[in-house]
Amino acid sequence: MKNFNLGHGILHFPLKLPWSPPGFVNIYLIEDDDGYIMIDCGVNGDEYFDDLKVNLNNLNIQLSDIKLLIGTHLHSDHVGLSTVLRNEGIKFGLYKNAPDFIPRYNDWTSRFKAIGEYAKKQGAPKEFLDDMNSISTPTTTGKITPPEILFDEGKIKNINRDIKVIFTPGHDISEISLLDGSSKIIFSGDHVLPRITPFIPLHDEETDMLSNYVNSLEKVKNIEHEKIAPGHFEVIDSPHNRIEQILLHHEKRSKKITDILSNGSLTGWEVTQSLFSRPLDSWNLRMAFQETMAHLKYIESQGIIKQNGSKTITWEVI
Ligand SMILES: [Zn+2]
Repeated sequence: MKNFNLGHGILHFPLKLPWSPPGFVNIYLIEDDDGYIMIDCGVNGDEYFDDLKVNLNNLNIQLSDIKLLIGTHLHSDHVGLSTVLRNEGIKFGLYKNAPDFIPRYNDWTSRFKAIGEYAKKQGAPKEFLDDMNSISTPTTTGKITPPEILFDEGKIKNINRDIKVIFTPGHDISEISLLDGSSKIIFSGDHVLPRITPFIPLHDEETDMLSNYVNSLEKVKNIEHEKIAPGHFEVIDSPHNRIEQILLHHEKRSKKITDILSNGSLTGWEVTQSLFSRPLDSWNLRMAFQETMAHLKYIESQGIIKQNGSKTITWEVI
């Protein structure tokens, strides 16, 4: 991965991640009158902090030149190192709903236990539930505390540059995209990515994350912009086409799930199995189950399918 040349006083470098894909997270530094505004910071850990400092040094930037760190969303590859940077005197900002979700960011054990309990109702086998119950928080997550600054939608206050916050939940419940007025670049975090379709998680039993996500895609599509600078991979030069592709992917998958259910009612686990027929490792199986549940809730909200039962839930076409 190379540094992007975005102009307009915007610097970039890719910072390595402990897992691949994506292998790297994009760090952006936007020049303001009295220092830089940094977007995202990578995972926690000495090795990653050292790498960050080397990259800053290559750009002739000191940590003390950074006045604000903005986290696009509460995932460790974007905010894991935030506590270390705050200890260096850098202010930290997140979207205003983020403090509600910091406890679950810090505690993977309870988060995955809750997913496991839901998976049980969806007919998941014991091995899957055991896997969920064995998860603990990795050190790369770091420990986050509520930030100094909480953003609302619209222009960010107390900075000179025109940067607007766009609330774009879906991939994460607190995700924001940022529109830089002078360059017309949207920094999308993981809301819009090239190459891969952003993962839509099962947030909890009630929240319809895919409806949130689709609405957030429409929102970004309707904002005038020229490029998208994503959290991973290369800059997107045709953002509208990319957004259309992602929307189409979710429509196709929803259609496929509806077709699967038209042959008779199934549990969420059975739908996952028929949707992902190839063998998956435990990480990918967790993702597949969550994605399937996000789709089932989305199709349910459109009035196409419904769920039955309480101890074990089945889904059927209306
Ligand atoms: Zn990410």
